[in-house]
Amino acid sequence: MSNTKYVFVTGGVTSSLGKGIIAASLAKLLQERGFSVTIQKLDPYINIDPGTLNPYEHGECYVTDDGAETDLDLGHYERYLNIPTSQANNVTTGRIYQSVINKERKGEFLGKTVQVIPHITDEIKHRIQILGETGDYDIVITEIGGTVGDIESLPYVESVRQLLWEKGNDNAIVIHLTLIPYLAAAGELKTKPTQHSVKMLMQSGVSPDILVCRTEHQISDDIKKKLALFCNVKQEDVIQSIDAETIYDVPNLMLDEGLDTVVLKKLNLVSEKEPELKVWNAFLQKHKNPKFEVEIALVGKYIELQDSYKSITEAFIHAGSSHETKVKVRWIHSESLTPENFEKELKGVNGILVAPGFGDRGIDGKIKAVKYARENNIPFLGICLGMQMAVIEFSKNVLGLKDAFSTEMKNDCLNPVINLMESQENVTEKGGTMRLGAWDCKLVEGSQAHKAYQSDVISERHRHRYEFNNEYLAKIEADGMKATGINPKTGLVEIIEISNHPWFVGVQYHPEYKSTVLKPHPLFVNFIKAALKQSKK
Ligand code: GLN
Repeated sequence: MSNTKYVFVTGGVTSSLGKGIIAASLAKLLQERGFSVTIQKLDPYINIDPGTLNPYEHGECYVTDDGAETDLDLGHYERYLNIPTSQANNVTTGRIYQSVINKERKGEFLGKTVQVIPHITDEIKHRIQILGETGDYDIVITEIGGTVGDIESLPYVESVRQLLWEKGNDNAIVIHLTLIPYLAAAGELKTKPTQHSVKMLMQSGVSPDILVCRTEHQISDDIKKKLALFCNVKQEDVIQSIDAETIYDVPNLMLDEGLDTVVLKKLNLVSEKEPELKVWNAFLQKHKNPKFEVEIALVGKYIELQDSYKSITEAFIHAGSSHETKVKVRWIHSESLTPENFEKELKGVNGILVAPGFGDRGIDGKIKAVKYARENNIPFLGICLGMQMAVIEFSKNVLGLKDAFSTEMKNDCLNPVINLMESQENVTEKGGTMRLGAWDCKLVEGSQAHKAYQSDVISERHRHRYEFNNEYLAKIEADGMKATGINPKTGLVEIIEISNHPWFVGVQYHPEYKSTVLKPHPLFVNFIKAALKQSKK
């Protein structure tokens, strides 16, 4: 039996209160105190995973080393903790039902009626404890998606109730995150929504151990006292979470409020050291006091919802801080770039990033953005679809293959410089069938990529079906676009660069998923460095 302790994070009053950031901040403090911690997200929707979701629904789909397509909160967990997550760190209702139904079909329930309680709740409890049972973690923090009171959250709250009971007070606790709204007309902070949300939780048999209260204004002791009285907690267990300038402030704010201390006390754990947050605060200091500024155009088709590019914008922050540079993003909708306006729209930027994506919407705009970067010596980073567009633009405009394209957008094109991977040819199902997760890549010495990584072999995460068509490799290389990263097992081209350009790199993988506060991603660091150089011209 492992001694892992469990912390559940539920949310009340409204969505978007930042449960993921609170969970990650708490985990960071506990990690700094010497505990081994991981965070898991339970999502109440029916999709098996967010891989089939349009980014407009929930923002970016994050990918782990072991190829799980997950909620973007896992990105925060990795960026804060600097340790990888896995399939086990994100579970959806779809996944839970899929396992239970598969077991039913195999006859594993021995003729019993299969029900939400106990079968679905047993499966949820099993999924919650998988990480604990590895023996790798002192503490597992489980964030329950959605808001208490949602119909689809009920089985999760019931599973938490059962686990609290089975594990006992010292081993499992609940943090409830709520909102204390400020009524400007009355000039007052209001506790009633929190009282109601706690009451709702209690109706399901769960009493919160700690309240974390999101607020725009300081919460007075009187308000804490009132919340304690109505919500069955001690005053010291009411933690204020005031709006912060950046999400990276939250660990410090939680430290000041003593969230980690209260959690450890409840779990009967003693830590040997105080959280120092040395590297973290050095990062924060540089992030908040930049000496320089660069402007990067982010060209994508989902820019109405900036969460669609969460890992990319966070990677900019990490890389920017390492150069004491503010990275200003010029958001450019790829559909808005036309042959007439693209030069005007992109004028003055110090770097261009063409984003990942699927399908043909906005493709011409992406190709225009690549052309502008290539012809004007603007540092360029193309990610996944962005890399593919760089290959297409180069083939069209330098090699003169006018109809060069990807078979994703033009199935019958005469020069398919990007085409479907052989392994994908017979794939018909959409969910979880792309080339996913970490693959090795061998770098060519002297390349920009090699200079950035300072390593011969790297491992990066993928999420795509199409690839560079090696039939065109010799011709493209002869004209100045080099393949500088190759998958040693399959020969797939993973990185392309243009030699006579200050910094032009396209990657078939997603470097943004691996950038963390402690380890800003080397490609982003070098991209920003090149942008800085450009800005000084
Ligand atoms: N649509 C492209 C492919 O499937 C690129 C995917 C991406 O950008 N993640 O290959």
